[in-house]
Amino acid sequence: MTTEITPEITPEPTPETPAGTPTTRKTVLITGTSSGIGLAAAVAAARAGWHTVATLRDTGRADALLKAAEEAGVAGLVQVKRLDVTDAASVTGCVAEVVAEHGRLDAVVNNAGAGSVGTVEQQGMEPVRSAMEVNYFGVVELTRAALPHLRASGGRVITVTSVGGVVGQPFNEAYCAAKFAVEGFMESLAPVAATVGVTVTVVEPGAVASEFVTSLRLDVPAMLAGAGPYAPALKAYIERTTRSFAGAQSPEEAAAPIIAALTAERPPFRVQTSQWAGDFVAPKLADLDGSAVQGLTGGWVR
Ligand code: NAP
Repeated sequence: MTTEITPEITPEPTPETPAGTPTTRKTVLITGTSSGIGLAAAVAAARAGWHTVATLRDTGRADALLKAAEEAGVAGLVQVKRLDVTDAASVTGCVAEVVAEHGRLDAVVNNAGAGSVGTVEQQGMEPVRSAMEVNYFGVVELTRAALPHLRASGGRVITVTSVGGVVGQPFNEAYCAAKFAVEGFMESLAPVAATVGVTVTVVEPGAVASEFVTSLRLDVPAMLAGAGPYAPALKAYIERTTRSFAGAQSPEEAAAPIIAALTAERPPFRVQTSQWAGDFVAPKLADLDGSAVQGLTGGWVR
């Protein structure tokens, strides 16, 4: 059973409480909030009373976020900052700024990510490396930078992985490998972080109706024309995936378990964002919520 915690509500910083004065309102930093799950999570976190540092690699793309925050009546709790997860200086600089301004950091949500469709023989190495940079090294970089502050606050690391972080999917070698890497990293970190009061959660969506597919900018006819012996398999994969995205959940639905992980007293290590996602990973995972593995390895460090 989980218990909800209400963040302490205090006035926002004013000229009387200038930047640098520690606030008592809990502060969360979320990556990739220009659209989709990150945008929905930023608005929902603010609605839950958190001071929300909504980060984007291009702050010129914050309009949709700011409009949604305004409509939800929480614009005053959403602060936009630049953070590109592939740029180490922007990651460490952003964390330092947040701590300097608010005196605390209670949670990070590693949400930024990008897909990659193809097979390695034809893709070559560049997309494989680039999928790792965004989806894996970016997560490691931010987690590393945040941990000293999360130790101080008894905070949490929440990371959006994917059902593709558990089940490898055709033509998703680069993406799934990166998400598998994140899952392994977080599963290893969780018992160690627990010894210093930091909780770690991975959130696994299935198909979500976000900008995820559009951002891939796939030229399907050109891909099929260039796929050679893989063309029939690629065609079948694209047809099947198009059908599955017709039943995609909304970003708000996918963001709900993020907010639950942010506010629950004892968040699970692993959570799927829909029944479909749970059913999809279940054949592979005997340990759906991660409690069995955490119980197993937690004993090594206690
Ligand atoms: P989305 O709408 O495309 O959002 C992805 C976000 O990540 C965007 O804000 C994007 O910013 C940002 N981003 C990409 N590269 C970045 C970088 N280098 N630095 C900082 N931000 C960067 O897709 P989404 O579905 O909400 O994706 C959110 C997370 O869910 C990702 O980790 C994804 O892998 C995961 N996921 C999605 C699905 C799905 O079906 N949609 C399924 C499983 C898991 P720009 O606007 O600048 O590109």
